[in-house]
Amino acid sequence: MKRIIAALTLALAPAAAAHDHSTARYLGNEGVMVAHGDSKVLFDAFYADGFGQYALVPDDISQAMLNGEPPFDGVDAIFVSHVHGDHFSPRPTIAYMRAQTDVVMFAPEQVREKLIEAGVASDDPMMKRVRTLALSPEDNGETFSFGDIVVDVVSVPHAGNRPHIQNYAWRVSLGEETTVIHLGDADPKVLNFSRHQSHFNRKQTTTAFPPYWFVGDRNGELILNDIIKARQTIGVHVPRRAAGNGDAWRRRAGGDLFTDPGETRILSND
Ligand SMILES: [Zn+2]
Ligand SMILES: [Zn+2]
Repeated sequence: MKRIIAALTLALAPAAAAHDHSTARYLGNEGVMVAHGDSKVLFDAFYADGFGQYALVPDDISQAMLNGEPPFDGVDAIFVSHVHGDHFSPRPTIAYMRAQTDVVMFAPEQVREKLIEAGVASDDPMMKRVRTLALSPEDNGETFSFGDIVVDVVSVPHAGNRPHIQNYAWRVSLGEETTVIHLGDADPKVLNFSRHQSHFNRKQTTTAFPPYWFVGDRNGELILNDIIKARQTIGVHVPRRAAGNGDAWRRRAGGDLFTDPGETRILSND
């Protein structure tokens, strides 16, 4: 019976692949998993601080990620926007990287420094899978690719005048049709994005995950629609008190927001 099912699955695979939706699953605060076919990536998924205001990743989701249980199996890469404790903490990140030995991590250089400070030796084998870079807001982007995944990144300053924090906008393409961008805690200041216009023009972005203060904000909307030109926007970093009340928050914001860890969206270029 097993063999018959396997054969049927194979026979159906090409047709199914053509209609394979990309999905985003909310983890908490700015944590998101994006999946397309066999490719899966996580953004800002391993952090320990909610500062009393932001949702932590629920224990059942954290445990399933750590164990690589579906739907968190086969993750290719994790991305960190910046070192703040509501986006990245060394302990859960190290635990995950040690448990999932095929996963590659992309992060600002400041994240590598935190890992070393937390006691990871610089020649630890895990660090071979940690790719960090130091970028200034004025620097051109950098591009990496591995397997079917193409990554490019620019630095966009953190909101609230924190120039010492490296905050990166990771743009990740999973196959030809799905490109997402995660903005970390970016400031919705037009110049911070318009200086990278040629970078943003290079690709059609399917879905942007900006902090919720972009959604419904005049400059934030201009950046999303006219500079990044995302087809779809889902705001993140919504305070945890919005959980269970997402529709009201989305209505008030005038756009889509993730509010409840575990909720999902289909990503679409339409
Ligand atoms: Zn921050
Ligand atoms: Zn934050």
